[in-house]
Amino acid sequence: MAETATEHFPVLILGGGSAGISVAARLRRANRSLGIGIVEPSESHYYQPLWTLVGAGVFSPEASRRREADYIPAGVDWIRDRVTAIEPDAKAVRTEAGRQLTYDWLVVALGIQIDWNAIPGLAEGIGTRDICSNYSYQHAAYTWECIRSFQGGTALFTMPNTAVKCGGAPQKIMYLADDAFRRSGVRDKSEVVFATPQQAIFSVPKYRKTLEAVVARKGIDARFRHNLIEIRPDAHEAVCELVDSGERVTIPYQMIHVTPPMSSPDVIKQSPLADAKGWVEADKHTLRHPRFPEVFAIGDAAGLPTSKTGAAVRKQAPVLVANLLAAMEGRPLTASYDGYSSCPVVTGYNRMMLAEFDYDGEPAESFPFDQAKERYSMWLLKTQVLPRLYWHGMLRGRL
Ligand code: FAD
Repeated sequence: MAETATEHFPVLILGGGSAGISVAARLRRANRSLGIGIVEPSESHYYQPLWTLVGAGVFSPEASRRREADYIPAGVDWIRDRVTAIEPDAKAVRTEAGRQLTYDWLVVALGIQIDWNAIPGLAEGIGTRDICSNYSYQHAAYTWECIRSFQGGTALFTMPNTAVKCGGAPQKIMYLADDAFRRSGVRDKSEVVFATPQQAIFSVPKYRKTLEAVVARKGIDARFRHNLIEIRPDAHEAVCELVDSGERVTIPYQMIHVTPPMSSPDVIKQSPLADAKGWVEADKHTLRHPRFPEVFAIGDAAGLPTSKTGAAVRKQAPVLVANLLAAMEGRPLTASYDGYSSCPVVTGYNRMMLAEFDYDGEPAESFPFDQAKERYSMWLLKTQVLPRLYWHGMLRGRL
C-alpha cells in the first residue's frame, strides 16, 4: 500500500543526475547546516557521454555506471522515489510512493524525457533487428554489436526534429562507425547515410566548416531536412518525411542508429512551472523561475536557449548555487550564466574536435589552440580526462 507522509526540506532538489548532484554537492560545501533533500528513483548514476564510446566498442556499459548512493553528498537526504506532481503554489511535490514533500526552495533537475513511442516501430524494434541507439544504457552495447557485424549495405544514422541532449552525439557514432567499417574492410561496399531535419551539419559556423570537411572526406551521404517518422523493423526500412515538402521517402537499411525524439519530462509539462514548450521556465542568466521566485532550474529540463549538455550543467551549477544562496539571504542575484555549452565531436577512433560556444553561438574555448581542428589530444581528453573530472570533480562540487 502507498505510504502517506509529509516531509519538509529547506532545499528540495528534483533529480539526482549530473545537475542535481552537482548542485547538492556545491550547496553542502557552501553551507553544511542547510537541510537538503534529493528525489531520485535510480540506484545507479550514469556518465552518459561515455555511451557514444560504448556504442563504438571502446568501453563496456558498466564503465559508465556507479552507485547513486556513493554520490549523494554526506548529510543530504536521498528520497528514493519518483516525482509525480509539482505544485509550486503550495510549495509541494508529490511522489509515486504517496509522499508529499514541501520546500522553501526548489531546484528542478529532472533531465530530458526520451519519447521512444513517438516513432512507430522504434519502441518494439530497439535492441533487435539491427535497430540500435546510444541514447539508452540498456541498448548502447547493441550499437557496437550492429557496427561490428555490419557486412555492407546502408548504415543509416538519424537525428529527430526535437531538442536532444548532446546534439553532436547522433553524428559522433556515425563517424566512429565509418572508421570501424574501414578497419573491417566493408566500407567500400557500404553507404553511410545521415538523415537529419536540420539544414546544416552543425550550428556554429567555426565548427561547421570542419565537420563539412569530415563528411566529405568520409564520403557520407548527408540528407538534410529529412525527419524519421517510422521504422519497419522486419522490412529493414525507415520512412522519413521531407520537412519542406511533406513528401515521404523510404530508406532501406542494413543497420540504423536512431536518436529518438525527446521532450521535457511529463511531470514538468503538466506543472505550472512549464514554459510554452514544456520546459521549466527560467531566466536565462540567473536560472531563477520568473513566476515562482523560490524555484530554480538547471540542466536538460531547463528552458534555456542553449545546447543541452553535461558541459552546460558544469557552468550552470555554480551560477545557480550562488544565486540560490543570495536569494535565501535576500541579496541581489549577481551570478550570470552565459549559455556556455560544449560538444566533444569525436570524428573517428583517436580524433576529436572540441566545440565550445555560448548563447550567441560564439566560440568560448578553453584551450590556447585552434579547437576547430581534429586532434588526438582531444580524444585523450574525451576518453581519459573528462570521465575522471566528472566523477571526482563535477559531482563532488569541486569543478
Ligand atoms: P540527467 O543527468 O539525465 O539527470 C536527470 C535525473 O532525473 C536522472 O537521474 C533521472 O533518473 C531523474 N528523474 C527523471 N524523472 C524523474 C522523476 N519523475 N522523479 C525523480 N527523478 C527523476 N554531454 C556532454 O557534455 N558531453 C557529451 O559528450 C555528451 N554526450 C552524450 C552522449 C549521449 C549518448 C547521451 C545520452 C548524453 C550525452 N551528453 C553529453 C548529455 C549529458 O549526459 C546530459 O546533458 C546531462 O546528463 C544533463 O544533466 P541533467 O542532470 O539535466 O539530466
